[in-house]
Amino acid sequence: MNFTKFPRRNYLQGATPIEFMPALTKALGNDVKLYIKRDDLLPGSAGGNKTRKLEFCIADAMEKGADTIITCGAVQSNHARLTASWSAKEGLDCHLILEERVKGSYKEEASGNNFLFELLGVKSIGVVAGGSDMMGEMEKKAAELTAAGKKPYIIPGGASNAIGAMGYAVCAEETMAQLNEMRLVVDHIIVPSGSAGTHAGMMVGMTGVNGNIPISGVNVSRPKDVQEEIVYKLAVETAEKLEVKGGVAREGIVCFDQYVGPGYSLPTDSMVEAVNLFAKTEAILLDPVYSGKAAAGLIDLVRKGHFAKGSTVLFLHTGGSPALYAYMDTFRQA
Ligand SMILES: *Cc1c(COP(=O)(O)O)cnc(C)c1O
Repeated sequence: MNFTKFPRRNYLQGATPIEFMPALTKALGNDVKLYIKRDDLLPGSAGGNKTRKLEFCIADAMEKGADTIITCGAVQSNHARLTASWSAKEGLDCHLILEERVKGSYKEEASGNNFLFELLGVKSIGVVAGGSDMMGEMEKKAAELTAAGKKPYIIPGGASNAIGAMGYAVCAEETMAQLNEMRLVVDHIIVPSGSAGTHAGMMVGMTGVNGNIPISGVNVSRPKDVQEEIVYKLAVETAEKLEVKGGVAREGIVCFDQYVGPGYSLPTDSMVEAVNLFAKTEAILLDPVYSGKAAAGLIDLVRKGHFAKGSTVLFLHTGGSPALYAYMDTFRQA
């Protein structure tokens, strides 16, 4: 794949580690060897997957002459935190529109990512009701800023358009190169599937390098059929952009929706167990909204014998640990 055709900043500092998780492997019965790709260690304040996407999205904004970034997310959005982070670093203004997906969940004084928005110097935070037209709200903000003489650029939620998803095609290529270097056979990759750029980009990249490792997504909000279509649509667009021959096969896009629980960002017992298990066996911090639920899926699939005995599974850790500090009561009750 040729990424040099697209505007791109240099946010990565090399490949993120791929580590064996011996204690977790043992805790789950030793039938499946578990590895982890540490995208939680990416640069950008407190790390996480949006850095790879923002390398392309912010570069596109700067090439278009923008001086201001507008984006949106949930009230504890990691994407909003990393957009604020890279905007600060690049000397761009950053404005956020936050969607209160759970009624009453926005608290001005909240900890976690919310506190970091402030610390990273965002210029404004607008809070809108769950189900609002987020693009419409961002366009309203853009019109207001344009009238005030600014040059705003809108990054969609999760930076999950074809520009941002290229960041995860980069990750698939990087992962494959590492596995080749390590002489490590991986039978399956598990990723969280939210706004879909991560899952779609990984599929495109894996196809683009002919890696042939199946990738499954664990949903954090939507039902399986709906999410698979969203991932597919974005993967098709991203594959076209990168001119990946043959495109991405629909049947290769697989999502699990049994680990969402009552809804996006709402705690589940299996998420609490997963966060505890990763912390206490491997000293790896997951998050309550994405990687915690995806890891709950991984753990359940291992226990259910979904992966063949003796196989190796790689879990993509997309970050998000600052959100833990907004959920301390959940973990202390458990
Ligand atoms: C955004 C996010 C995800 C989901 O990635 P998408 O590309 O939106 O599907 C997973 N984990 C964390 C920590 C995130 O912030």
